[in-house]
Amino acid sequence: MTTPLIVTTSWDDGYPADVKTAEVLASCGATGTFYVPTRNAEGRPVLQEETIRELSCRFEIGGHSIDHIVLTGLSPSELDRQVRENKQWLESITTSPVRGFCYVRGRYNAAVTEAVRNAGYAYARTVENLNAGLTGDPYRVPVTLQLYPHSPLAYAKMLRHGGVSVARLKSLWTALSSRDLAQRVERLAMASRAAGGYFHLWGHSWELEELNLWNKLREVLNHLAGDHGAEFLTNHDALVRLRVLER
Ligand SMILES: [Zn+2]
Repeated sequence: MTTPLIVTTSWDDGYPADVKTAEVLASCGATGTFYVPTRNAEGRPVLQEETIRELSCRFEIGGHSIDHIVLTGLSPSELDRQVRENKQWLESITTSPVRGFCYVRGRYNAAVTEAVRNAGYAYARTVENLNAGLTGDPYRVPVTLQLYPHSPLAYAKMLRHGGVSVARLKSLWTALSSRDLAQRVERLAMASRAAGGYFHLWGHSWELEELNLWNKLREVLNHLAGDHGAEFLTNHDALVRLRVLER
């Protein structure tokens, strides 16, 4: 008997095109988590409060700091404020607990993780790609593949985040075995089934928009649902299902 595949997806930065990402996910029977900063110091617009509320009816909403700034190196009080007030703001909009946090630009250290935990988040997502299984540490949730056509060199550099292991080298090899994103997903999904059944697709709606990757997202989701019989869960519910978190 083959291992069922748990597929979770996540989308960072609260960019307005998240609405379109949500529509594609819903049309394919998929779900996921949107990580939303209060505003974006990089200059990109952020979803309106009413839209965040609407998204929260079907998807999980997670924290991503007030200003979308790198959190390592901030003073303890500013770090705490960035993490805590973004959570309170999102909870006031969604009227439900916000349990997940995504490290801005994937940057974190012990102080950032501690601030995230102290603010009441149950878990935190990294940008550590090429992982087909979980670490068991809820504040270091890895991902499998970003929906973005990275160069082979960029894939190799991903190993700097999260450490080199035989499993990740295998995933790197698998990702590099095709230039087509859908084929990369297909091959990594097969590897995920063999390695524990966890597949985490993530990305940015502004990249999907810039590169017009909407059909590619559809293709990938339909494939995961059809050929792999994937069970789609939010980031939080995938962690519960795979016993990293208690409900
Ligand atoms: Zn971000």
